[in-house]
Amino acid sequence: MLRLHNTLTRELENFRPLRQENVKVYYCGPTPYNYAHIGNLRTYLFEDFVVRTLRYLGWRVDTVMNVTDIDDKTIRDSLKQNVALKELTEKYTEIFLEDIRRLRIVPADKIVPISTLVDDMVAMIQKLIDRGYAYVSDDGSVYYSISKFKKYGELAHLDMSGMKSSVRIDNDEYEKDSVADFALWKAYDEAADGENRWVAKLTVEGKETELPGRPGWHIECSACNMKHHGPQIDIHMGAIDNLFPHHQNEVAQTEACTGKPFAKYWMHGGHLLVDNKKMAKSAGNFYTLRDVVEKIGADKEELVCRGFRLMALQTQYRENFNFTFDRLDASMRTVSGFDETFRRLSRYDAKEGKVNRDFRNELQGYVQAYVEALENDFSTAEALAVVFAFQTFVNASIDSKKMTLPEKESVIEMFRSFDSVLALFDFALLEAVAVDPELDMMLEDRNVAKASKDFATADALRDEILAKGYRIVDTKDGSFLEPV
Ligand code: AMP
Ligand code: ZN
Repeated sequence: MLRLHNTLTRELENFRPLRQENVKVYYCGPTPYNYAHIGNLRTYLFEDFVVRTLRYLGWRVDTVMNVTDIDDKTIRDSLKQNVALKELTEKYTEIFLEDIRRLRIVPADKIVPISTLVDDMVAMIQKLIDRGYAYVSDDGSVYYSISKFKKYGELAHLDMSGMKSSVRIDNDEYEKDSVADFALWKAYDEAADGENRWVAKLTVEGKETELPGRPGWHIECSACNMKHHGPQIDIHMGAIDNLFPHHQNEVAQTEACTGKPFAKYWMHGGHLLVDNKKMAKSAGNFYTLRDVVEKIGADKEELVCRGFRLMALQTQYRENFNFTFDRLDASMRTVSGFDETFRRLSRYDAKEGKVNRDFRNELQGYVQAYVEALENDFSTAEALAVVFAFQTFVNASIDSKKMTLPEKESVIEMFRSFDSVLALFDFALLEAVAVDPELDMMLEDRNVAKASKDFATADALRDEILAKGYRIVDTKDGSFLEPV
């Protein structure tokens, strides 16, 4: 039975999805005004582990993610750089998608730029006005009246006893001590908004009103869920900094419209820290994935990405994780270790036979432990520990030279199955590289020369092979050719 930590109750709960076809999962997407930093990407990795685990455990899952292509920051930077908002946000959305592809993150089934949802947001705002949860301020903005929503503060565990009502805030982001009525629609302000202007046609106190402006940040995720998932979802995810005000406000908006509980489970990931401080664009202490790749070497890009993925897997998702280049280096070496096991497997010349009972039991033990780890609130670090133990077993089986062909095949099958969550391995390494038989003969001659201590001949043959594009790799399992 899968158990997960629900922020709503602050408890580990058994996972029992709402009765609907597929498990509905939502997570807040990027604000594409700049490169994502690796802290942002850590959050998308955590969400990827959750979705992949649900699918691995047999659930059918529908995922939706928004793209915040209208907000304070995107508009601010498009004006500063003098480029159209759409041009700026499309550029950084593409870069974001490329980054997550490199990190082997499965993109959400639906990726929704919120500029496609303005009518849906306005319709929701209308409903909130009709139901008495929202009001129009003197400057033509629309605010959510938090005192009207009795459960305000429940998700974020706020103490609302000293709350001052009708204090207003129009920033998208704010801290707990400025808890206040928040903007659903912001009146047009030429200096701040430039040409970015939409018109909300609303009926207020029986009168048709046109309010030029733009949507606030929080309403977008409510509208996106409503349109693409419906009124209720199973799991809502995000990083912990989004719990307040963003997620709290999503709950207030959606539930005031539907009268039903919005998300059954709320899951929040910890932050990525640098030198024990939260990595943030505003603090200027951030690395993008590209920065990290550049620092280590572009030729190692693929390994860097897998190494970073492994680091995220090794950290419990609710904990903060402190990024250091030493840790990344260690993770890259661990990934290379898996590659080496795969190379050894590919070279391993297995004999026909059957899968021994002990061998099968051993494998079953790993699968069981792996599933148990994941079912324990997505403990990817524990699941990885099982995979390391499995890797040791595989290496020992290769050493023993007793592993049969069907046993080798079942080992590969297990790696594939583990990898549906981990997405760390390089299965191409298992494809035997077809080598010209002439080169194979040269390798044989070289080995004979080496064994009889005729090093001059051995070296000459090695150089000749190298000139033909292959490197000799001497291992404890024998010598092999690898394309350079
Ligand atoms: P943004 O593109 O700014 O909307 O952020 C995308 C996601 O990254 C949000 O879920 C943020 O909460 C999350 N996030 C921002 N900073 C960090 C950090 N240092 N570590 C982990 N996640 C973060
Ligand atoms: Zn959101």
